[in-house]
Amino acid sequence: MSKDSIQNRWLSKFKHQNPFIIAGPCSAETEEQVVQIAQELKDSEVSVIRAGIWKPRTRPGNFEGVGAIGLNWLKTAKVETGLQTATEVANPYHVELALKNEIDILWIGARTTVSPFNVQEIAEVLRGTNKTVLIKNPVNPDLSLWIGAIERFLNQDVKNLGAIHRGFSSYNNSTYRNVPEWQIAIDLQSEFPEMPIILDPSHIAGRRDLIFELCQTALDLNYNGLMVETHHNPDKAWSDSQQQITPQTLLKFLSELKVRKQHSDDVNFSKDLEKLRAQIDVMDDKLMEVLIDRMQIADKIGGLKKEHNVAIFQPERWKQILEKMIEKGDGKGLQKEFILNLYKAIHQESIAHQQKIIHKN
Ligand code: PEP
Ligand code: MN
Repeated sequence: MSKDSIQNRWLSKFKHQNPFIIAGPCSAETEEQVVQIAQELKDSEVSVIRAGIWKPRTRPGNFEGVGAIGLNWLKTAKVETGLQTATEVANPYHVELALKNEIDILWIGARTTVSPFNVQEIAEVLRGTNKTVLIKNPVNPDLSLWIGAIERFLNQDVKNLGAIHRGFSSYNNSTYRNVPEWQIAIDLQSEFPEMPIILDPSHIAGRRDLIFELCQTALDLNYNGLMVETHHNPDKAWSDSQQQITPQTLLKFLSELKVRKQHSDDVNFSKDLEKLRAQIDVMDDKLMEVLIDRMQIADKIGGLKKEHNVAIFQPERWKQILEKMIEKGDGKGLQKEFILNLYKAIHQESIAHQQKIIHKN
């Protein structure tokens, strides 16, 4: 099947509810808790209540979910509120129980997406299903693993697929619990342009105060939905208490978020945009020419170092360049992290050029 015809099969329902909202606790704790949260979320833009039943904690000893009994509680919440239900499945047994309990949306967790063995097993038991299956990004920043998981479901003729962007682990300290790496999600969207993508700001942020701005960024980037961890008493939540918000806070956020249109028919808008885009195109050409010239100088440096048998990498020089460029860009509205990443990439390419010269006979 061609990629185009595959993409025509993507679930369109997210596209019509802009944005599509899934909310609910990190974990189902008691029947009262699940039902109360669902009650507070119904009669709003929220379409689906989520709750984790089997909780894959990073380290053992933490609360690891109530197990299958929680599926009954989700069912009760559905009957009492009319909300659809969503939970995470991590193996074929979870899938079997979730289907038996009429869970509407199954999601594949970040720790499952990393394992093609697990993904394949789950995809096979879901062969041909009409259920909605949402695939979280893997914990590590590996676009291919994410794409691979989606392809495994496509190969099993699972039609109603979507992606959830929940950020990526990093060893470095960061503002975020899981760094967003927006570019990876943007690259996924380029790979599957028609596939709905949902942001999970809760697992990216790890803390409440970042949730709103993450949601707004997602809407600015044309995401189709949000999955937000929501608890009636977040501080007392049995898991992920720092990042959960109350249903009231979520509803307030939803009323304040700006939903962007994909296009505008306004003639002036189109003209202005075209003009600016033409300027950007000129800049991009210039940028590319400068980079090509820069690499030609790197080639010459490579030749000189070869002649004098000097090592390619000169830490002092690298440090100086970085400091100078950060200082230059910082005051002009460029983020330090951006300059760092840009220069790391340029430096790497420059080293590769010099290596080629040095190893040339
Ligand atoms: C969750 O959504 O509760 C969860 C465990 O998420 P993740 O797989 O993104 O860590
Ligand atoms: Mn959680």
